[in-house]
Amino acid sequence: MTNKVDLYVNGEFSQGSGTETISVTNPANQEVLAEVACATLEDVDVAVAAAKAAFYEWRLIPAPERARMLMKYQMLLKEKQDEIATVLAKETGKTFADAQGDVWRGIEVAEQACNVPAMMMGETSENVARGIDTYSLIQPLGVCVGITPFNFPAMIPLWMFPLSIACGNTFILKPSEQDPMTPTLLVELFYQCGFPKNILQLIHGGADQVNALLNHEDTRAVSFVGSVGVGQHVYRTATQNLKRVQCMTGAKNHMIIMPDADKAQTISALVGSSVGAAGQRCMAISVAVFVGEAQSWIPDVAEAMAKIRPGAWDDEGAGYGPQISAQAKERIEGYIEKGKAEGATCMLDGSGCEVEGFPDGNWVGPTLFSDVTTEMSIYTDEIFGPVLVGVSADTLDEAIQVINANPYGNGTSIFTSSGGAARKFQSEIEVGQVGINIPIPVPLPFFSFTGWKNSFYGDQHAYGKQAIRFYTETKTITARWFSSESTVNDNLTIALK
Ligand code: NAD
Repeated sequence: MTNKVDLYVNGEFSQGSGTETISVTNPANQEVLAEVACATLEDVDVAVAAAKAAFYEWRLIPAPERARMLMKYQMLLKEKQDEIATVLAKETGKTFADAQGDVWRGIEVAEQACNVPAMMMGETSENVARGIDTYSLIQPLGVCVGITPFNFPAMIPLWMFPLSIACGNTFILKPSEQDPMTPTLLVELFYQCGFPKNILQLIHGGADQVNALLNHEDTRAVSFVGSVGVGQHVYRTATQNLKRVQCMTGAKNHMIIMPDADKAQTISALVGSSVGAAGQRCMAISVAVFVGEAQSWIPDVAEAMAKIRPGAWDDEGAGYGPQISAQAKERIEGYIEKGKAEGATCMLDGSGCEVEGFPDGNWVGPTLFSDVTTEMSIYTDEIFGPVLVGVSADTLDEAIQVINANPYGNGTSIFTSSGGAARKFQSEIEVGQVGINIPIPVPLPFFSFTGWKNSFYGDQHAYGKQAIRFYTETKTITARWFSSESTVNDNLTIALK
């Protein structure tokens, strides 16, 4: 019997009021793992109403008590991390090590949410005028919404709902329909930790369910992670509806390779960060900028990439897994063809890749292009596969100009042994997350995830202090208390000051 993936709406896990389902398939062999129930628009309305009603009670629970429940949750996630990683590996195709990383990076954010009493402290200023004090309270917003992509089905939902709920909000999660089993397990575990019902609702589906949440008058804030086109639509619709929004979107991340870098370390980092996780990471390096003499390293990069092979999630020798869907594989192979037609040199071609025992998997082998120009579509577009494009620059200044002219600004990195070059790079580069001899500089959760330009629309970023501001309102109180010593004259003086 096929597994069924439930919604959580109005206090219970169920298949909802509709009949439409979406198949969840194993990307290594197309086996149907489960059928996920799509929420009807009526289910969305019921979920929002239940979350709104639950908010008025949840916001009154003291922050230390909310944090204590979250402590239980992060402990349970740690206990169950391999179980979660197994579900995740099967539905995404990620290698088990990558799946464990996905779960762990989410747990780190849930841990950070336990610190909410300190993070929600306001400010106080005594005697701002005679006998008058001003202080601020940090209060939750109401019903918040999270819309998440396929590529990190544990980490990205965990960027959102633990922090939002810790702040006293209620939350509606709409995860990717391509791998909904992991987020559903996260919600099931959540309700094993003593949280009151309805503070977290789970809606499955696609564009219709997202649009219903964006257009609902009772949702206050929207966190979105996904592709740039959908992110722009979400940002425009939600802001049009006067909601608070943060959209973490697509990327084209460059690594500058200086000729003075440690060659072996650099090539190893470049290969891992470009084809690791099948290139399906928003912080993957997809462009290598070889500066000066470093251009002669390109054949060595091709040789190192050729040694990496994809395989199934439990194949310990596999460097990465399949692409999430047959459409994704087809799209990537389309770009490989375009790259050749546009005149780039294909040093390593991963199209038509086969993996023994898995003839129907969505495999794409490691792919490397050199002689790429910034007009080619393999440079301008996010390919989201194990495809690395190499461009050349004569100087560091020229390499910085290439990156700054690119419309995306999620992550970038420089490999060099020169402190001066690294310092110039960190100062002049127009990208929000910068690595120095680190290929994928994803900040830990006490910082925030700070993409720039077309990789982010909004104001406050995901997790860290910025997320607390995103999920709360500041109320500023100005107070005066009369005492027996106060006189009419004192009051007059105060009013005139
Ligand atoms: P996607 O945009 O296709 O889907 C994201 C979410 O939006 C899903 O929940 C999906 O159901 C929903 N959706 C899809 N089409 C929609 C529409 N027309 N209207 C409303 N909602 C819609 O993204 P994906 O393919 O699942 O994820 C990969 C993308 O996510 C890549 O572009 C990657 O760079 C990006 N990403 C960005 C970050 C970041 O932090 N910047 C992190 C991870 C992934």
